[in-house]
Amino acid sequence: MAIMKKKVGIPRCLLYYNYYTVYETFFREIGAEIVLSNPANITLEKGLKLVPDEVCLPIKNCFGHILDLKEKNTDFIFLPRFMRVEKHTTFCPKIIGLPDLVKNIIPNLPPLIELDINFSKKIKFYNDINNIGGLFNSGLINNYRAWKMALKDHHAYRNSLTNKKILPSSFVNTPAHQLNIAVVGHPYNIYDPNLNLDLMDKLKKKNVAIYTPDMIPMEIIMNESNELPKRIFWTLSRDIVGASKYFIKHPDIDGIINIASFACGPDSIIGELISFLVKEYGKKPYLLLILDEHTGSAGLETRIEAFIEMIRMVKDRNS
Ligand code: SF4
Repeated sequence: MAIMKKKVGIPRCLLYYNYYTVYETFFREIGAEIVLSNPANITLEKGLKLVPDEVCLPIKNCFGHILDLKEKNTDFIFLPRFMRVEKHTTFCPKIIGLPDLVKNIIPNLPPLIELDINFSKKIKFYNDINNIGGLFNSGLINNYRAWKMALKDHHAYRNSLTNKKILPSSFVNTPAHQLNIAVVGHPYNIYDPNLNLDLMDKLKKKNVAIYTPDMIPMEIIMNESNELPKRIFWTLSRDIVGASKYFIKHPDIDGIINIASFACGPDSIIGELISFLVKEYGKKPYLLLILDEHTGSAGLETRIEAFIEMIRMVKDRNS
């Protein structure tokens, strides 16, 4: 008789968009059945009902995804606590405190797998990895093999995004009338269409080629951000600013769109910084979109249209 696999629920929110290859390979290799939360708009609506207004939209969205998994009756929900993935930077307090917030706001959840991601506590981390494997009846050697494989898949995926052949000298042979626009922001804001109201699709329909920070090799992001007079100590914000600086200086990029969240402290600071860098280095068209649950799709469409029109006018004037 086939043995029933235990189910682990993975919410498609926040750092899922950076590390989903790690999550999926690791849990698959230790013998878990993976259940993902529903990416639909209804999931976001569930979260909006639960969390106070002053919290940022990505966190509200994450609550919706966890509620969705609760309704799917999984054996566990994976909710890592991201603290530090490298020496000098950290994550915002809402990301660090998310497992505690969730436990306090949503009652009767399945057991949470709260893996602490902390660069400076490696021994604890490897013990935790082994304990997680134990929940799915996987042994020590298999647990570490699964983790190694997860990292390998993650690096392969990251490398596939950064096309080193076309960077940094030139992006592409841009077809006539196509615009190259860099869309910067937290990966969850860029890749979750429910948070950005289908921005990427709207841009593609307007003949725009989109470039995002994760297409830029990490060495370039680090070099660009290291040139700033002050170090940025939030990991994701450092990546956004480093990539933005590169895009601003790149001759093939026609404009920059920064997607920020209302009520996000880091976004309010780096939004100002990117705006300063645009004036300092490139004087390129720059659009800051601050999104919350009240942002309307029609209003967003109008702003994008106006922005694209402005870029085309600037290009025509300079050609
Ligand atoms: S970085 Fe900003 S948008 Fe992301 S979770 Fe923290 S406060 Fe929210």
